[in-house]
Amino acid sequence: MNTSSHPTEWAVERLLPLPGHQPVAHQQTLHARDGMITRVGPAGATMPQAGSLAMPAFANAHDHGRGLPTLSCGIPDGPLEVWMSRLGVEPHTLSFLNTACAFARMACAGIGATVHCHNTQNGRALLQEATGVAKAAQAVGIRVAFAVPFAGANPFVYESEQRFQDIFTHPEHFPALTAPRHRRSLEEGLNIVDALAELESPTFNVQYGPVGPQWTDRATLETISDRSAATGRRVHIHFFETRPQREWADSMFPEGILQYFDSIGLLSPRLTLAHGVWLREHEIELLAARGVLLSCNISSNMRLASGLPPLPTILAKKLKFGIGLDGMSLEDDDDILREARLLRGIMQTLHPGLDGPGDTRDSTPLCFHALMRVGRECIVGQDNGGVLEAGRPADFVIVNTQRVMPTAIADDVLPELLLTRLTRQDVQALVVNGRTIVSDGRCQTVDLHDMENELHAIVQHALARGTPPIAPEWENSIRQYYRAQLHTQNRAQQR
Ligand SMILES: [Zn+2]
Repeated sequence: MNTSSHPTEWAVERLLPLPGHQPVAHQQTLHARDGMITRVGPAGATMPQAGSLAMPAFANAHDHGRGLPTLSCGIPDGPLEVWMSRLGVEPHTLSFLNTACAFARMACAGIGATVHCHNTQNGRALLQEATGVAKAAQAVGIRVAFAVPFAGANPFVYESEQRFQDIFTHPEHFPALTAPRHRRSLEEGLNIVDALAELESPTFNVQYGPVGPQWTDRATLETISDRSAATGRRVHIHFFETRPQREWADSMFPEGILQYFDSIGLLSPRLTLAHGVWLREHEIELLAARGVLLSCNISSNMRLASGLPPLPTILAKKLKFGIGLDGMSLEDDDDILREARLLRGIMQTLHPGLDGPGDTRDSTPLCFHALMRVGRECIVGQDNGGVLEAGRPADFVIVNTQRVMPTAIADDVLPELLLTRLTRQDVQALVVNGRTIVSDGRCQTVDLHDMENELHAIVQHALARGTPPIAPEWENSIRQYYRAQLHTQNRAQQR
């Protein structure tokens, strides 16, 4: 196993410093030392492997590090507001095991960095769970940004004046409605951020993760905004994933929720919004002007029936966007190459025909930029990474092109061919911070196969005894609440 302190080198047939943006270089050797690329130049005596191609590592701009996808826990997909109520049946597992599996699977797909929005299993044990995630990040070796969750408001529906429990004929049949819930105080959350900051390393950092405006109060958002400005620490928040969230925000913030965010200083290049499906044009303009980043999570939006982000406006206003899997990739395989392909397809479909991004050929470079540069910025900030040049972080992936490119084609078309055909099965190696995480298509730092078996055994045992994920009466009450627009009955109220 290579370590970051020793000089190492990799010879490849082709090297794309940033696909679609810079020319393809042939027969190259990439040298690294202490986590940085020291030189990229013509291959020396070492013969590159046939079909080997190096490009920057991929970045997953939004995820939850689920070792076991929700479907494997027996939880069917559905609209977010209903689907979330099913998550309660997820079996508890050690956070190390759960996230190490997720990170190692991502690594095998070429993902060198990810945002981890932590879903707590036990709200009282967040620090302990987070320490497990930090250990998993260290063991696997990809870069992880841990977004510390700040939440607690509106656990069941986005309430306004009418309480959720009031719509039940027999609320006493549902003890969850009135059961005391543990809610971390703002102070506790901030202390956890500070404690976790002690574990920061070149490949692990901590972010503020207010889970979403409908789950967080104003005092929390304002304090986080101030702390982020004072410390430079990034903020990561789910935002406008679904239509009910948009409607709730319109009713709770008559002045405009993003105008409110702006007034408290939250809109800055340190902020990432996940989803943004229901953003309006003037909001996209404001976000772009403030340098805010967006994570597009197309597969998740499809599977959770959320809608699609307004990509033509996002492109027109030049809002910077990365690509996130949200633990919900289309085929539950964390294949972010397929996700990039999906994003390109949707981008071209929403603005069809002449002069659209499919005609101007902007779509391919934009998707690679999202996959390698902007997504990375969501995780590590502006660290100069995501381009294979001397003096930049040594984070790259080596794929084998023999399957997808049986005949040599012109360099000009190569980025499009890669985006059209590559999948995770073509990933041969992943290097992060100069350390080899994947080689020969296998994770070298942890035994993924063993860990997955262990996880499956725990989950199978738990599921055999578990409760069914769908509680029809409860779910119908959620639907009833939103159908009656009870989440928007707040127009006169200013909190
Ligand atoms: Zn998410």
